[in-house]
Amino acid sequence: MTEQLLLEQVVEQVRPLLGKGKVADYIPALANVSSNKIAIAITTMDGITIGAGDYLEPFSIQSISKVFSLTAALGLYEEDEIWQRVGKEPSGHSFNSLVQVELERGKPRNPFINAGALIIADLLQSRLGAPKQRMLEIVRQLSCNPKIGYDKVVADSEYQFSARNAAIAYLMKSFGNFDGDVDTVLKSYFHYCALKMNCADLSKAMFYLANRGKTLTGEQLVTPIQTRQLNALLATSGLYDGAGEFAYRVGMPGKSGVGGGIIAVIPGDMSICAWSPALDANGNSLAGTAMLELLSQKLGRSIF
Ligand code: GLN
Repeated sequence: MTEQLLLEQVVEQVRPLLGKGKVADYIPALANVSSNKIAIAITTMDGITIGAGDYLEPFSIQSISKVFSLTAALGLYEEDEIWQRVGKEPSGHSFNSLVQVELERGKPRNPFINAGALIIADLLQSRLGAPKQRMLEIVRQLSCNPKIGYDKVVADSEYQFSARNAAIAYLMKSFGNFDGDVDTVLKSYFHYCALKMNCADLSKAMFYLANRGKTLTGEQLVTPIQTRQLNALLATSGLYDGAGEFAYRVGMPGKSGVGGGIIAVIPGDMSICAWSPALDANGNSLAGTAMLELLSQKLGRSIF
């Protein structure tokens, strides 16, 4: 069976799940997205991208952006400078929880929950003159798509409803683990979340994670060891408190976002993006997880 046919089968077999789950509704801009969308795309080691379903339709990448921001920070800081501010452990709490931040004196568990990503956004703000512009350049380059942009409506809406993320940032500041102006860093963080990309863009962008740190255009973005480390963090923390379930069912490093996207990686093999907006109780795409599970079964591949 061709890979194209396989992806189409995955979409069709998972389509009946589309009534299940719940679209993120913490901001109106996301609540209005149709729950009927379903898509998957893969980029294989020969650099070819194929997809099925709505794989060319852009969506809000949300927390998938946390992979790009950590990668950008790795290019700007010594590793110790990053890991003294944020941990490497799975959280077992919801992605926007304040509880651990308080109990663990302002040091977030990992860079893929909101608290950790806010620390990374703070680090980027300190070293980059124009972090939002730089982030756009990075994702455009990684996806080979100069048209990628921010969804201003989503970014503004996130800012309007920013109480919880602001609380997390101020709590970390109270422990001395936040350098910049909270409002400025929040605005950058919300823009990263509001990047609009489709499954093809995202599977291309994540190619470096499958290719020992080398991008689709041949640039060595991170070292092979850093790539392995990023994949380890994704496997343990990329799906929040659903990371164990995801490892069990899908068996790949992955990162989800509340826009319904999930990226996943089979190192040395392919980078993948699945999208369907309705989420499970942990805030991970319900049909997206099912598609990745089915794909790993059909391919007979996982990292385990
Ligand atoms: N913008 C969302 C937030 O900060 C991102 C969370 C997510 O995708 N899990 O709450």
